[in-house]
Amino acid sequence: MFEILFLGTGTSHGVPVVDCVMSDYKFCPKNVCKAAETDPKHNRTRSSVLISFNQKNILIDCGPDFRTQVLREKVKRIDAALFTHRHSDHINGISDIRSFCTKIENGKPNVHDLPIYGSQETIDAISQCFSYIFDPDTFVGGGIPKLKRNAVDGKFKVFDLEIETIPVIHGSCNGCFGYRFADTAYIPDVKSIPQKSMEKLQNLELLIIDCLRMERPHSTHFVYEDIKKLIAEINPKKVIGTHLCHDIDYLADEKAIDPRMTFAFDGLKLQLS
Ligand SMILES: [Zn+2]
Ligand SMILES: [Zn+2]
Ligand SMILES: [Zn+2]
Repeated sequence: MFEILFLGTGTSHGVPVVDCVMSDYKFCPKNVCKAAETDPKHNRTRSSVLISFNQKNILIDCGPDFRTQVLREKVKRIDAALFTHRHSDHINGISDIRSFCTKIENGKPNVHDLPIYGSQETIDAISQCFSYIFDPDTFVGGGIPKLKRNAVDGKFKVFDLEIETIPVIHGSCNGCFGYRFADTAYIPDVKSIPQKSMEKLQNLELLIIDCLRMERPHSTHFVYEDIKKLIAEINPKKVIGTHLCHDIDYLADEKAIDPRMTFAFDGLKLQLS
């Protein structure tokens, strides 16, 4: 039994989109950015989920909204973090993980290494982008996260949870992964799925997948039309679209999609077996 909490469900811009708001919504395709003022389900922070399993909390991706997300959801602990790929909307909150590296033990704060996981390419990119975290000469007065890097491929275990990597194509981003745990797969950024990875997506109870928008193709992301083809091939029991841009109006568009599918929203929590 585990739980998934959607910390964020938006594309790299988030929703509302800043330039859309600043141009008085003139170019907003479905008026979602304006509707976000009154309907919180239209507000989408950058995509991330928190998996809770056996008293442990495992984060997948840590984007620029991480701090806001953990405050909003009152997340008390994070025990490990997985990264799908190197793009800034998935890694740029990493310095704020430092708050979760300190644990109170016998009444005293103790700093622990927090394990992080990703493809070799993603771990290399994190090491490069946040070199100060891993440089032994960095002055630690301001507080930096203590991270233990783990490059993974295939199957691996985080605490007691078995996880499988699902390599996917996402533009020119090397080493982009989705992850499968039990009968759930989480693939927030994808343009195409190699045959070997398709084999890892059989017999899914739940597929959580990139759904940037409905029809208009995108060069690096799935849109609903791509998901339709995928679910015809792998036949998951349920599908949730995430990494949504302001082209998705969940109220209107949910009526037009496959009955097995819904759209994620920030704060959505699911119990899974
Ligand atoms: Zn992204
Ligand atoms: Zn908009
Ligand atoms: Zn991306």
